[in-house]
Amino acid sequence: MSTQPGQHDVARCTNNESIYILNHFEALGLSPVITKPLSALGYDTPTPIQREGIPLLLSGQDLMGLAQTGTGKTAAFGLPLVQHLLGIGTKPASRTVRALILAPTRELVNQIAVNMRTFVRPTHLRVTTVVGGSSIGVQIRNLSRGTDILVATPGRLLDLVDRRAVQLETVKFLVLDEADQMLDLGFIHALRKIANLVGTPRQTMLFSATMPKQIADLSRAYLTDPVRIEMTPPGRAADKVRQTVHFVSQRAKSDLLKSCLGERPDDLSLVFSRTKHGAEKLMKHLVASGFSAGSIHGNKSQGQRERAIKAFRSGEIRILVATDVAARGIDIPGVSHVYNYDLPEVAENYIHRIGRTARAGAGGEAIAFCSPDQGKLLRGIEKLMGLGIEVAGGDPSATEDNSPVSEKKPHHRGQGPGGKGRNRQSDRNPRKSSHRKQASGGEIETGNEPQRVFDGDRISEKRDRPANANRPQKGRTGRSTSAKWRARRRRPAA
Ligand code: AMP
Repeated sequence: MSTQPGQHDVARCTNNESIYILNHFEALGLSPVITKPLSALGYDTPTPIQREGIPLLLSGQDLMGLAQTGTGKTAAFGLPLVQHLLGIGTKPASRTVRALILAPTRELVNQIAVNMRTFVRPTHLRVTTVVGGSSIGVQIRNLSRGTDILVATPGRLLDLVDRRAVQLETVKFLVLDEADQMLDLGFIHALRKIANLVGTPRQTMLFSATMPKQIADLSRAYLTDPVRIEMTPPGRAADKVRQTVHFVSQRAKSDLLKSCLGERPDDLSLVFSRTKHGAEKLMKHLVASGFSAGSIHGNKSQGQRERAIKAFRSGEIRILVATDVAARGIDIPGVSHVYNYDLPEVAENYIHRIGRTARAGAGGEAIAFCSPDQGKLLRGIEKLMGLGIEVAGGDPSATEDNSPVSEKKPHHRGQGPGGKGRNRQSDRNPRKSSHRKQASGGEIETGNEPQRVFDGDRISEKRDRPANANRPQKGRTGRSTSAKWRARRRRPAA
């Protein structure tokens, strides 16, 4: 056999004059027991992160992977994990865990568990999940039998450790998935606590779409000589997503959305709304207008969310209206369009949102609706990605009055469909501008309602927004920022 793992597309070996073309996954060093179910899943060729990561992880190295969702990272860490666990040969003792996978939200935990259960199907290995919002009694019972692979959100896991339902000293493999999102959701202390409870020596894998300083610090503290692999530069949206923006008033957005959706009745569309109430209202409006739509957000029970995702996945409903937190971890290969009905407050969430389409190499379209007060958010997104988004409709200058922008940098924007500026790649290093302004995990409420913050396990309430929170903010001079901005623009040039 003449192949270096990951270097050749097809590995061949000669045996009794027959030529066997090895499954590409086998060429990476995975055993046939593990690779066998992969073709049934449609995994014929390893994705780049799998080609790079699997041989490294099989060799026992720690890994820091900068990779967005949709790159195939679950199999990249999951398949070597299964192979290592099969090598142990004995069953885990009661209330112990061999491999721990931490993820920020229930949806993502469930998604990872579904993948892992498929990978372990031909083996005796057991996958258990622990997430908030589900019966802790059942989880305690499941853990009492001993677990090969535990997929968990950090909050509920610490609860169970406190109740002595599980102990983590025997963990030999630790995976921190979507680490930047865990940071956003306030899990950094929980992560440190868990990492200190987990035994050594162990193999640790950390995956993150971006690498903020705290995550870099975390990986320095808990990973040993990790190999860093970077699949897509952080801040860059999936290359296969065609991105456009419509400049449209808030009031006209629902008509525009209906018109866009009406043009593609057979497609699966995910629509992002900023607030839970907004998502619910929009979904009801779409249903009243004859569209088959559902919604997922923090006000829905776990069961309701799962039913909505299932209906969307099966095509029973064609449109899913979602908030950021609820949509995290959704992996539905057929999503062809992502609508940013409201632009996200945090630019990085735009990348996570549009990553819901163009999964596993497929193409997809991301359509943003930018109302006059959202120009600054759009510019933040373009700055983060280092490109101008193609204008599909409306007047870009309509946003200027209400949205102060940095005067230092010219604003790059496309010239219209097929125009010169389409998805221009700027020279700027997107990583330099990927600073984070606020936690992005919470779902923002409008008006003076309590702000509900979802921590992956529970929803807590903060009533810290004043009644006039939606009005322009006043600076030190007492004038509103937008008033100052207008005044500055009226001043004649020197
Ligand atoms: P992930 O980034 O792990 O969430 O995976 C994104 C999607 O890609 C999931 O639907 C996977 O089932 C799919 N996928 C992962 N690896 C492959 C592969 N080698 N070939 C085809 N699809 C894949």
